[in-house]
Formats: sequence, structure tokens, C-alpha cells
Amino acid sequence: MIEIDEARAAVLERAQRLQVETVALTRALGRVLAVDVASEAAVPPFDSTAMDGFAVRHADLQGARADAPARLVLAGESRAGRPSSGALAQGTAIAISTGAMLPEGADAVVALEQAERCDGRVEVREQVPEGANIRRAGDDVRAGQAVLGAGRALGPAELGVLASLGRAEIACVRRARVGVITTGDELVAPGERLAPGQIYNSNAFSVAALVRQCGAELAGVTAVGDEPQPTRAAIAQALAEVDVVVLCGGVSVGEHDHVRRALAELDVRERFWGVAVKPGKPTWFGARERKLVFGLPGNPVSAMVTFALFTAPALRALEGRAQVRRRASALLAHEYRKGAGRAHALRCRLRMGARGLEAESAGDTGSHVLTSMLGAQALALIPSGCEHMRAGSRVELELLGEPALNR
Ligand code: AMP
Ligand code: MG
Repeated sequence: MIEIDEARAAVLERAQRLQVETVALTRALGRVLAVDVASEAAVPPFDSTAMDGFAVRHADLQGARADAPARLVLAGESRAGRPSSGALAQGTAIAISTGAMLPEGADAVVALEQAERCDGRVEVREQVPEGANIRRAGDDVRAGQAVLGAGRALGPAELGVLASLGRAEIACVRRARVGVITTGDELVAPGERLAPGQIYNSNAFSVAALVRQCGAELAGVTAVGDEPQPTRAAIAQALAEVDVVVLCGGVSVGEHDHVRRALAELDVRERFWGVAVKPGKPTWFGARERKLVFGLPGNPVSAMVTFALFTAPALRALEGRAQVRRRASALLAHEYRKGAGRAHALRCRLRMGARGLEAESAGDTGSHVLTSMLGAQALALIPSGCEHMRAGSRVELELLGEPALNR
């Protein structure tokens, strides 16, 4: 058995970033940038007004007061998207609306409510400083400025910024195609009737959803029984079609566990089998050229936990995400005792306590108790050598879920 970190390192060593493809901005939510992005031009591209009002020369307003307003000749209009044709001459004002280009010669904008308009003139009742109400070209982004780095996941703000640079398409890393295969004679699809000894195939849904939540493309979910031939055929087909195969169950040492043998026959080279973690001990990982194969334990909690610890980081690495792991730390809300030998991955809820983030474990419930995953926000990782953790000790967390990646 190897430790969690060694197993993860072995996985990441094999998970090389996939190819680059061009993606329309309209379809890029949740995708990952393959390149650094700099702006060619300044954003905004021109000086403009932040208010509706009048573009002026501030020097023309010298000494203006409510009882002695400055009088300017109204010389035209600059509207949003329709600049005024001429420059602003001394002693004149140009009506201007929010977002409109500042006319040449203007150095301040008087807000509508500071002025009065009558008979082709504008009366301004107060002085304004130079630059008043003006947004400068490049306030947001300077020409040539680096804006987003490769590896960045594109959320709403990133898409808006890319659009503001005028980008209609963007170089992203290809999403990993993932095939999920569940194994077990006892499994029945939800909606069917259970015969004695049967259970519903929950991993087909939880693990498939984890794949999609990571931003990967779920190519398909196949259920096979505990027979060598169908197991091998399903894996062979998946290997032909996808980048990553995620198997659930059948990876232990039982007489009816056929996954490892099938993988060996298909030349998928084992990198590890057995991780010192509870739940998740029989986890298997191997590769055939650039294709990755995970053999996750069948127990529903073990499958979700080992996916979070090993498969999710691999999928993030394949897509070139800057943050491959979702680490944090918190204070353990309760004391925790366990035997030495294996690390424990405790499913936890997080809350903000007086001393910072606290992790409250769902308890050491069995790996078949899937409801213990409801509301779990993180796995608290209790190291293999540790036998006792006091309440309030700091624990490492693996955060669950992928904020901003839902699609
Ligand atoms: P295995 O890893 O195949 O030995 O399975 C371990 C336990 O997980 C057994 O109790 C199986 O019935 C259960 N199990 C395996 N696969 C699934 C699945 N896809 N959905 C729900 N439970 C499963
Ligand atoms: Mg089984």
C-alpha cells in the first residue's frame, strides 16, 4: 500500500495536458485557457464620460457659483456610440451621455444636475475640477497588459473580460473524455424492480456526475456483470474511445473480481493497487500510453472519496487547470481516534467558528452509507500514522465540488 500523496503523485505524473482547441466564447463557460491572454488595445478604448451632462473645459468654469453661473454656448452633442464631430472650442459645451466619447479639447464633464440648459446655452452653477466625471482610456486594461493566465478556468467574469477585449473565440485545452464502467451482478438500474440480493446502481450516477462536475466530458456509462469476458470487452471499447476509464467495483481480491485481470490482458500497466486510506484501500490506477484507468472500489462512499482524491486531480491536470488540487485546512470540530496504518478521509461539513474554519465530521460511518455524503463539503485527511486528534487540531482538507465549473 502507498500513501495518498504518493498515489496522487503517481497519477499526476501520468496526467499530461491534452491538446489545445479553439472555442467560441459563447461555449467557453467552465473551460480552461490554454494560453496567456494579453490585451492588444486599451479598455476602455477612449476617454469617456461616467455621467450624463456637458463636456467642458474646466478653465471656462472659473469662479462659477449658483448666483453667478458660467455661461457656455451649447455647440453639439456626443452620444454613446456616436461621437460629436468637432472639437470643443473655448467657451462652449457639448451635451454628452454616459459612455459617450469625450470630445477633443474637453477636460471635464459637468453633471446634468449641476447645469441648466436654455436657449442654446448652458449655465453651470459650480466649478468642477479637471478630469471630473471622466473615465480614462485604459482605466480597465492598458494596451499590451497581461490579463488572464493559461490554466485559468473561465467563469462569468473571465468571459466578460475576454469579450471586453474583443475576443470572440479563445484557445482552450480539450476536455477529457471519460467513460464510466460499473461492475457487479447485483446492480440494477433505478426504476427497475429489485430481485432478492440486488441493489440499485448508485455509482452510475454519483461517479458520472463527479466526472461532469470536474468539467470533463462524460462519454458514457456502462454496467457490466461479474463476468471476465464482458468486463474485458467493456474496458477494451472504452479504451478505444476515451482518455480516461473509471471503473467502479470488482477491483478487490474476490473470486468474482475480474477488473485487474482484464486490465492486464489489455496491456494497461498497473501503477499502483492499494492505497493506505480509509475508505478506498483497493484503489487501482494504471495507464496504457496516454490513456488513464482508475479502478475505484465499488462501495458508494469509497468510489466518491477515491474519485475526489485521485481521479478529479487527474481530470483537472488533463484539462490544464492551474489548480489541480483543492486544498485547504480547518480545525477539527471534534476529537478523532483511529488505529495507525491507514489515513482516514473523513467526510465533513465546514462552518465558520470563532477561530476560523471548522470541519465537522459525519463520523466514521461505513463506506456503504451513501447518505453520509449528503452535504459533505470536504474530506478531512487524518494521516496514516496519527491515532488521536484532539478537538481543535488543524487538519488538511480536500475540498469537494468544483465551484464555477457547473455546466
Ligand atoms: P466491490 O468493490 O465490487 O467488491 O463492491 C463493494 C461493495 O460496493 C459491494 O457491496 C457492492 O454491492 C457495492 N457496489 C459495487 N458497485 C456498486 C455500484 N455501482 N452502485 C452501488 N453499489 C455498488
Ligand atoms: Mg463487485
